[in-house]
Amino acid sequence: MRKLVAAMAVAVGMAVPLTAVAMANDSAVVQASSINDMAKQNSYGGITYLDQMLQQQGIKYNDFYASNPLNYRYGKPEGVVVHETATPGASAYNEAIYFNREWMNIYSYVHAFVDKTGVIQMTSPDHGVWGAGPVANSRFFQVELCEDNNLADFAKSINNDAIYIAQIMRQYNLAPVNAVHTGKGTVWSHAAVSKFLGGTDHGDPDGYFAKWGYSMDDFFDLIKYYYDNGSTGSTTPTPSKPATPPKPKPTTPKPTQQPKPIDTKLLMHNALVYDGNGEKTKQSTKKAGTKLSVYGTKTIKGKKYFQIGTDQYVVATNIEGSLQLLTHNAYIYDGNGERVGTGKFKRGSYVRTYGGRVKIYGRKYYIIDEDQYIKVGNFK
Ligand SMILES: [Zn+2]
Repeated sequence: MRKLVAAMAVAVGMAVPLTAVAMANDSAVVQASSINDMAKQNSYGGITYLDQMLQQQGIKYNDFYASNPLNYRYGKPEGVVVHETATPGASAYNEAIYFNREWMNIYSYVHAFVDKTGVIQMTSPDHGVWGAGPVANSRFFQVELCEDNNLADFAKSINNDAIYIAQIMRQYNLAPVNAVHTGKGTVWSHAAVSKFLGGTDHGDPDGYFAKWGYSMDDFFDLIKYYYDNGSTGSTTPTPSKPATPPKPKPTTPKPTQQPKPIDTKLLMHNALVYDGNGEKTKQSTKKAGTKLSVYGTKTIKGKKYFQIGTDQYVVATNIEGSLQLLTHNAYIYDGNGERVGTGKFKRGSYVRTYGGRVKIYGRKYYIIDEDQYIKVGNFK
């Protein structure tokens, strides 16, 4: 994919790609097999889960799966598509932040980004993503390798990539079979998808691999090595965590105890404060954009609330929103009712809206993000 903002490439200047070419030429004597040997010298960088990473940084996780529940045709992945970002200078972190923010505008998303330091998993491989056209998207999990500019870092990055892919393939009982030459198998490149399955025309990662004298066949060998050995091949224990860590159970605080918040949540819509019977309190309205300590959830008269203090509750949709089906293509507006950019959501897709409708200069909108609104009429 070549979707990362051009600004990123401009920001780092052209020095990086030139360096990459120069380094590749210098290292042309390095045989691909020894690149795999170099790779195996490195310890695995492990997996960082995007939702957890963003929560720590106070950035909203735009849940791709919640908005686009794309099921595989057989209910589980049939293999992997190997991608390369074609964006020199962009780390897995850069890509993750960008795709979290922009997938709804660029119609593009993958399961993970990998670089020399490790893996950032964007969403669970249990469901499909938008990486390589409709045929592949409904069959494979998809992983993007980030570009590096020297051979040692390239070796580290493919090592992380191969270990991560091998682990996921073991999870789903997918024995590695190279599909690149035949169009049959479990390990695909984006180029092979373009050639055999269609619906897309990218050729990655072949060109980037070739810069290093490396190929998909070599990378297949590395994946198979880790699949067969069932280990990370490193002396460092894998700092991997379960994909969905158990969430602390909501606690109902005893009146004698100072309750402990279980989470901090960003309020997306102004919220009245209710008591435990669902009656309005005299507390002032909590403003959108406020971070609230949350002590658990409670259903009052069939409606879900978050507890934000002793006998204080706000309606949950003000925080977590709900998915609504768009019946028209919809533009995005800011708090002044001005169009934001040229991006639009497509009719037939689901958009998460927060709280009740709001009025801007007499027109009715739903809140979809901080200072982002869609007209109510697009949902009717
Ligand atoms: Zn690709």
